[in-house]
Formats: sequence, C-alpha cells, structure tokens
Amino acid sequence: MSGDGGTAPPLRAAHPRRASRHDAVVVGAGPNGLAAAITLAKEGLDVHVVEASDTVGGGCRTTELTLPGFRHDVCSTVHGMAAFSPFMGSLGLPALGVEWVHPDAPLAHAFPDRPAVVVERDLAATAAGLGDDGRRYARVLGPIVHSREAFADSVLGQIVRVPPHPVFLAGFGSLAALPASVLARLFAAPPTRALIASAAAHSTAALSQPFTGAAALMMLGTAHQVGWPVARGGSQALADGLAARLRDLGGTIETGRMVRRLADLPDARAYLLDVSPWQLARICSGDLPGDYLRSLRRYRRGPGIFKLDYALSGPIPWRDPACLRAGTVHVGGPFAEVAASEAAVAAGRLPERPFLIVVQPSLFDPTRAPEGRHVAWVYGHVPNGFNLDITERIEARLEEHAPGFRDLVLARHVTSSADIERYNPNCAGGDIAGGRNSVMQIIFRPVPRLSPYTTPNPRIFLCSSSTPPGGGVHGMCGYHAAKAVLRRLSPAR
Ligand SMILES: Cc1cc2nc3c(=O)[nH]c(=O)nc-3n(C[C@H](O)[C@H](O)[C@H](O)COP(=O)(O)OP(=O)(O)OC[C@H]3O[C@@H](n4cnc5c(N)ncnc54)[C@H](O)[C@@H]3O)c2cc1C
Repeated sequence: MSGDGGTAPPLRAAHPRRASRHDAVVVGAGPNGLAAAITLAKEGLDVHVVEASDTVGGGCRTTELTLPGFRHDVCSTVHGMAAFSPFMGSLGLPALGVEWVHPDAPLAHAFPDRPAVVVERDLAATAAGLGDDGRRYARVLGPIVHSREAFADSVLGQIVRVPPHPVFLAGFGSLAALPASVLARLFAAPPTRALIASAAAHSTAALSQPFTGAAALMMLGTAHQVGWPVARGGSQALADGLAARLRDLGGTIETGRMVRRLADLPDARAYLLDVSPWQLARICSGDLPGDYLRSLRRYRRGPGIFKLDYALSGPIPWRDPACLRAGTVHVGGPFAEVAASEAAVAAGRLPERPFLIVVQPSLFDPTRAPEGRHVAWVYGHVPNGFNLDITERIEARLEEHAPGFRDLVLARHVTSSADIERYNPNCAGGDIAGGRNSVMQIIFRPVPRLSPYTTPNPRIFLCSSSTPPGGGVHGMCGYHAAKAVLRRLSPAR
C-alpha cells in the first residue's frame, strides 16, 4: 500500500491560459463534487467547480424525460443514504429548499404468487410481518438501528483507519462480511430470504461474494433508521440545494465545460476530481506517475443497468396492493431467482429473469406528474457495456407482478448502458456504482493507499464514488476527500 507521499511529477509550471488562482478547483458537480466544494468553502477556501453538463447534480438530476409535466429523476430518486449521511445532515437541508417526502413504507419485495414482504420504517412492525423470522430479524437489525452513530461511521466512514466504535464494528462486521447467500440462511421463510437477497442485490455483485451481506444490512438498516425518502419535486432539489449552499459560502460553479486536461483549468492549490479513475488517468496523464496511472487503468468496472422511465395514467396495478405503500418495490421472486440474476450479470450474461428495482415517487409526491398521473422508473442490472434493448423482457416481468401495467403507459424513455455513459462519463459502460464492488475494490478503491482520496501528486485528489464509501447520494466521498485536502494544505489539522 502506498502512503500519501510518493515521487510525483510536479503540476506543470506554466499554463498560459491559467489566469486566476483558486485555493481549490473541483471537476464535476455531482453530489460528491459539491460536498467536497462545500466542505472546503466552509473552511474559508476559495473554491471553483467546473461541470461538463449544463446543470449541476450528476446522478441527482430531474427533467421531463417523457411528456410535459412529468418530472423524472434521470438517476437517483431514493434518498435513504442522503438522509442518513452525516455530511448532508450538517447542512440544514430544509433551509436550502430540500424537503424529504416519506413513503408509507420504504420497501416492498413483490412476488407474482404470494403476498409481498413489506419493510416498514419501524423495525418491530417489520418483524411482526415476518412470522417466525421476526424475532431473528429484530435481533440482526436491532443493534444497527439502535446505534446510529456507530452504524453511520461503519458504513460511511473511511475504510483504512482505527475504528472509533470497535465493539459495534466487531458485531456488525461479522455479519456484513458474509456473502448474502449465507446471511439469508439465518432466516427460515422464503420471503425473508428473498428480501435479504434483493436488498443485497443493490451491491450489483454475485450474492455468493463476501461482503454482499453488508449491502443488505446497509439498505435495511437505513430503511429502519431514517427511511427511504424522496426529495419533493425531484432529486434536482437536492443538487440545487447543495449548489445554493456552495454559492452562499462564496464558491463559484461553471457549467457546460467538459474538462479533458488538467492544464485547461484555472490555477489552484488543489484539484479535486469527481470523476472515474479512468478519467482521472486521462485528465491527469501528464501529472501523475506511470505506476499510479497503470493502477487506475486496472480498476474494474461494475455491471451496467438498463433503465425505463414511464409516464403512467395511474398507479402501478400490483397484484398485492400493499406494494402501493412502498416507495421502492423489488421484483425478483424468491432468493434463488434474485441470486441467479445477479450471478448471471456478474459472469457477463444477460439474466433470463432480471431482478428489477421499481420506484414510483409520484404516489407520495404529487408534484412529479399532472393530477391523477404518475411517473415511475425501473431498472435491471445488465453486463457492463451491454447494449441491446430489453424493454420487452422487463415489461413482461412487470406484467407478472402487476397485470395490466402496459395499459397504463402513456410514454416511456429508454436508457441503455451506453446512453447512461453518454449522459455522464462517470458511468463507464453503464456502471452506476463507481466501479465493481469486488472485495478488493470495496476496501481499496480506487487503488491501495492509506488515504485513497490522495494521489502521488500532492495537488491532485479524487473525490468521486470510486473512493470510499462508494456509490449512493451521500456526499461522504467528497467530504472525506476535502478533509484530506485540508490536511495537505494545513498539515496542523
Ligand atoms: C439510474 C441511476 C439510479 C440511481 N439511483 C440511486 C438512488 O435511488 N439512490 C442513491 O443513493 N443513489 C442512486 N444512484 C447512484 C448515485 O446517483 C451515484 O452514486 C452518485 O450520484 C455518485 O455521485 P458522484 O458525485 O460521485 O458522481 P456523479 O453523480 O456521477 O457526478 C459526477 C459529475 O461530474 C461531471 N463530470 C464527469 N466528468 C467530467 C469532466 N471530465 N469534466 C467536467 N465534469 C465532469 C458529470 O457530468 C457529473 O455531473 C443511481 C445512479 C443511477 C445512474
């Protein structure tokens, strides 16, 4: 593992177009780029953000993808991670115009032939719905739900350091390190096992892989701890709130400018890149040593996704109406089916019966669609770079669980893995998780270093979801990266 120093080529001395000098320039106005910029600006630093797109937000944007008046979140909608994030919690989001809207229940796992499993915000209520598994569920999730600070630190803190809650971490870690396939066997009933599988499937890894248990515990833990809210009006409200906070602090944001070389940026004491490791290698190729660049290029991509956004004439007609109480519905059938779907994707094959995540925010936030109408999205995992249209396969699966779904479709917008990469170069081959969640890349992302936010060049930092704690709208990668910058600029900190 390399340390923070290293033999680095200095940033090239003379850049004729570099007129102004900032304390820090951030490339990318995603949740992590904005979080990094805010953290630095709060310390009085002069920060400038450069964003390729015409709007801020990265994976946190909202637009009318289908019909006028239907507001779709292009990427993220479900903000359990944001609601749980200590960084987001420190901002005073309501004053920034961000209002969390809570579905009646965070999550349901739907089946075509039996009642859904519903995850209520309340742990005891959820356990009560799990029959004989209820007591075991409460025993597994209870310590997580009752130790918010230690839980947040374990899943959103930096990975390589002395843990501040060692007792909690020992208990949590022994379950989190398990493959989801083993964690699920703690439970007897097929619906509970299916729930563990679908919660773990958010990791986009095969469920036989160690540490997929962590994804299940994190998803379910946040559901009970803070719920899985959506932002009223769309996720753009959160991105706009972050941008407003940055501007209040004196930071500046330039949109519509794709950064291709570091030399094109204004002069700065530190550069923070909210980009993928492969982009970091391209943008900074002349400013980082060859062995580090090679390690960045070896970083592995995760699976892609295939997403459909819908304008609907009514709520999704789930076989089990309990699903209408949930903001997020998992469509995956029993444990074995979810596991087979994720295993196929991890092996580079399209699953026969894809596991699907369905989100219908307009059920709880009527501002998303004209009166009586709805928006919904659904995505399935596909092999990285997979580029065929699987609309038919996905809708056939939805019809099994919600007969008559297709009759409600007023318009649909299709996003393939290639489309998503075109939309945001961070999503290479459709990877929405900032890189494959293999055991190595969960612990050491993007490369093994004591502080993974630093690079061998003392002025260049990485702050995207390709650093710990990884994917999701929580801003903690940016926050930790900014702390590394502050330590570098003022070593006394
Ligand atoms: C379809 C989809 C659904 C998702 N659903 C959820 C969800 O419900 N809940 C959740 O918590 N997470 C969800 N996620 C994941 C979440 O959106 C990401 O993990 C999160 O946005 C990562 O934040 P980031 O700041 O690291 O990167 P990004 O959000 O990708 O932002 C990076 C920004 O940098 C800009 N950029 C990149 N390269 C350059 C360059 N060279 N020059 C200038 N600008 C550049 C991009 O345009 C972008 O604005 C979803 C993601 C997708 C794609």
